[in-house]
Amino acid sequence: MSNQEKMQKIGSKVMDEETTSRCWEKTNNAQRIVIVAHRSPDGDAVGSTLALWNHLDALGIQATVALPDGSPHFLNWMNGFEKVLFHDRHPQQVEKLIETADVVWCLDFNGPSRVGMMEDAIRASQAFKIVVDHHQFPESFADVLLSDPTCGSTCEMIYGLIEAWGQLENVSQETAACVYAGMMTDTGSFRFNSVTSDTHRILAFLLDCGVDHSLIHELVYDSNRVAKIQLNGYAMSEKLKLWPEYGVAVVALDAEELLRFDYQSGDTEGLVNQALSIEGIRMAIFMKEADDGRIKMSLRSKGELSVRDISAAHFHGGGHHNAAGGVIENGSMLDAVKLVESLIPSWFS
Ligand code: 5GP
Ligand code: MN
Repeated sequence: MSNQEKMQKIGSKVMDEETTSRCWEKTNNAQRIVIVAHRSPDGDAVGSTLALWNHLDALGIQATVALPDGSPHFLNWMNGFEKVLFHDRHPQQVEKLIETADVVWCLDFNGPSRVGMMEDAIRASQAFKIVVDHHQFPESFADVLLSDPTCGSTCEMIYGLIEAWGQLENVSQETAACVYAGMMTDTGSFRFNSVTSDTHRILAFLLDCGVDHSLIHELVYDSNRVAKIQLNGYAMSEKLKLWPEYGVAVVALDAEELLRFDYQSGDTEGLVNQALSIEGIRMAIFMKEADDGRIKMSLRSKGELSVRDISAAHFHGGGHHNAAGGVIENGSMLDAVKLVESLIPSWFS
């Protein structure tokens, strides 16, 4: 490949022209466009939905971003965030929107169960549904599936889409900042295996669009509340369990502990990666008692071990090879930890 060729078509591996053109036609001709992402939206979910929203807005196309529930406060600086509708606050309005939409963009999730209480509305909607996602094993529930599990983030795929549409000239600083934020948060600040030379070429493009990368890093990572830092300190000093013989670390926080440290959404996001960073650890699990009493799990691994497979087999979950999530539906936190403890040996046999 010549150097010139390398710089072209960098984002469009899974995007054939016919499909992307069809998505553009549908979107350009739609009266009502809704853009949705998964529940407990993270940087890539908020980033990709608002990136597409900002891009369409710059082209004079109206759309609405609807998310199942709130996102951590450190993502609320993205342009257009104040216009996002949250289903848990306005269920009827959001369901009506999805029901009457012509086009629904489904970003950063691989199956309707990932949108929580919005699931029925998404399934029932007659809208033209387009999925852009990078999770493994996508379900077929949409009219168009743009899936690339090798890609580090959905935001990187949104770049690919805009490139495929021939609209890079129209990328505003606001759009670029949203794309950057999702790429940054889903790649551990550009260090995971999923990062490629293409990722960095796209980043260079985003910086040329005027993205202030160090400001975005600061907004996302340096805006911690004292209670959050104290909760993380407590979790690591009091609640970390290690199985050195397997290289496993587990951190579990129950509802009382979360309350004690004034837990807010996003407060424990980095914990599982911190546990994984311990020397000799190749798998880390973070467990948290949710408001509904279920135990929410975050799993991370290094190398061959697939936490996606483990989560699918035992915790009704999924995600990526080295980063997955799931739930334990019933029982106390004590029971949940015992269950995990009893399963660990089987993952290494
Ligand atoms: P996290 O641990 O950050 O919540 O999630 C890690 C990865 O697993 C993310 O890509 C997320 O989308 C996915 N994931 C988290 N929870 C679930 C779940 O309950 N089911 C499935 N299928 N994937 C999940
Ligand atoms: Mn993602």
